[in-house]
Amino acid sequence: KVKSGMAQMAKGGIIMDVTTAEEARVAENAGACAVMSLERVPADIRKQGGVARMTDPKRTKEIMNAVTIPVMAKARIGHFAEAQILEAIGVDMIDESEVLTTADETNHIDKHNFTVPFVCGARDLGEALRRISEGAAMIRTKGQAGTGDVAEAVRHARAIRNQIRHAQSLDTAELFTFAKELRVPFDLLQKTAEMGRLPVVNFAAGGLATPADVALLMHLGMDGVFVGSGIFKSENPQKRAWAMAQAVTHYKNPKKLAELSEDLGEAMFGTPVSDVKH
Ligand code: PLP
Repeated sequence: KVKSGMAQMAKGGIIMDVTTAEEARVAENAGACAVMSLERVPADIRKQGGVARMTDPKRTKEIMNAVTIPVMAKARIGHFAEAQILEAIGVDMIDESEVLTTADETNHIDKHNFTVPFVCGARDLGEALRRISEGAAMIRTKGQAGTGDVAEAVRHARAIRNQIRHAQSLDTAELFTFAKELRVPFDLLQKTAEMGRLPVVNFAAGGLATPADVALLMHLGMDGVFVGSGIFKSENPQKRAWAMAQAVTHYKNPKKLAELSEDLGEAMFGTPVSDVKH
């Protein structure tokens, strides 16, 4: 399928949140496989509050002009008009994102209506497969964006992995029942069980702040990572961006990770997930 091309290309890579052309250049030079344009990084949205929307298209176009790697941008959940605008300016992928304020409390975007591919967040297998049935070409864990705490991303990565293993242990009659429980199409669940993984590229996101966080999520079977506040809310974004990008490649090599983790300056201060209201 043509639409999965962008997601397949990102596999084994790191996608970094950026709010300016200058940050986008830092991300590209550090080895990001793509950048994500957004108005404010999640940590600022969390701190400042207010309604978080799609970025000014002018800003996103500046970012597109500043780099040679693909540029993604966020639209609010259910806000298909924002998504149409992002498609019109030619972004490479749209993130239908819970990091922004939800625009439709009931419905996600019908992503089959678009040529541009979408990535969506998920906390478990049911959510992931519902988003895929709506046309998502890529899934990421929701985690808790803007906290700098990796715990929720880990929970979501493990939930998806454990539910896939469970699906693989079921006979067909039981799989029909599990599909009903998960509120997902049977065929999609069956395909997932056969493949032993999500049928689309699956990235970690939400709270990753160190090279070790990256390695942890890669060990849990993720195809790559998104990093938001973790880079540009740290003391030395340039160095940390590079180290986290290297960690995606070298996650199985603790000696290399030790070198990459040295002397990066302060990580983002963060908020433990246990202190965050859900
Ligand atoms: N995420 C957000 C932010 C939502 O508002 C909703 C509700 O519609 C969902 C996820 C859940 O959607 P679904 O049950 O279709 O996965």
